[in-house]
Amino acid sequence: ACSSSKKTTTGGTTGSGSGSSSSSSTGAVKGKVGVILPDTQSSARWESFDKPLLTKAFGDAGVTADIQNALGDKSKFVSIADGMIQEGVSVLAIVNLDSATGAQVEAKAKAAGVKTIDYDRLTLGGTADYYVSFDNVKVGELQGQGLVDCLKAKNVTSPHIIELNGSPTDNNATLFKQGADSVLNPKYSAGWKKVGDQSVPDWDNAKAVTIFEQLLTAAGGKVDGVLAANDGLGNSAITVLKKNGLKVPVTGQDATVGGLQNILAGDQCMTVYKPIADEANGLVKLTLDLLQNKPGETTGTVKDTQGNRDVPSLLLTPKAITKATVKDVVADNFVTKADLCTGKY
Ligand code: BGC
Repeated sequence: ACSSSKKTTTGGTTGSGSGSSSSSSTGAVKGKVGVILPDTQSSARWESFDKPLLTKAFGDAGVTADIQNALGDKSKFVSIADGMIQEGVSVLAIVNLDSATGAQVEAKAKAAGVKTIDYDRLTLGGTADYYVSFDNVKVGELQGQGLVDCLKAKNVTSPHIIELNGSPTDNNATLFKQGADSVLNPKYSAGWKKVGDQSVPDWDNAKAVTIFEQLLTAAGGKVDGVLAANDGLGNSAITVLKKNGLKVPVTGQDATVGGLQNILAGDQCMTVYKPIADEANGLVKLTLDLLQNKPGETTGTVKDTQGNRDVPSLLLTPKAITKATVKDVVADNFVTKADLCTGKY
């Protein structure tokens, strides 16, 4: 697939993943929006996909946007929010680092008359006007089913499974697990064996290596499949598996360049592709509606279990990707063929 790599026009996937990461666009629409992304290490998506796609979408819509990354630092997250409120944004969109900090920021924004939107992650106990994301339970179902299919293809019966879950403070991780459990729990009842099941704080890829090493040791070095909640965690598991001379089906999420490369290399069995351009466009539309005091277009509501309220939400549909369908992600201009040959993780 790599020989005929011709760079196509879109798909900017070369985020640096470090340093101060701020970008802005200036537009014709009255009112400014602030966006706070969470970090650069939990997934390549935030800097490689979300930032360029949001910058472009807000720019195309004529909305002035200040997009910053909290670099995994909760106090930085709060100070960025304070700065944006200070500079006079009318709408603030956040990907929270945890619900408590997110709710604190949303309360401050509300007190200052600033509307808020939860982008990708729901802030439990928050006050966001809207939530835009994917069907995250469905993401987990696709991962669970992906693992089932990959093991079936390898004719493994009664497999030993290790589960590497996302951050315990990310509501999405709860939903991913809920979806995966709905597929895997019946399997465990029918003879599959769960030999490890652990959450990874902050989705930290380095911590995931240590956690997976410990789980594998505790499992006596025998594992037949790994449910990893995203491509970064999947890559952590793959690193350890390789060190131990093992090659078993591993799941993922985000269709990152690294994840897709692992799939092409046969080290990862699937990923979940979430067309982030649609999520970015969804945020821009809701922002425009809020700026113009119009009701936003939603697909329904999502329950905030902590705040006990139904948050008006726009939920998009995720898609499972295997080696056979990596080309669909390229066809969608999410990544280019060139990215898949040269991209660094
Ligand atoms: C997002 C995933 C991402 C993870 C780590 C989740 O909230 O939905 O796409 O991989 O956070 O950043």
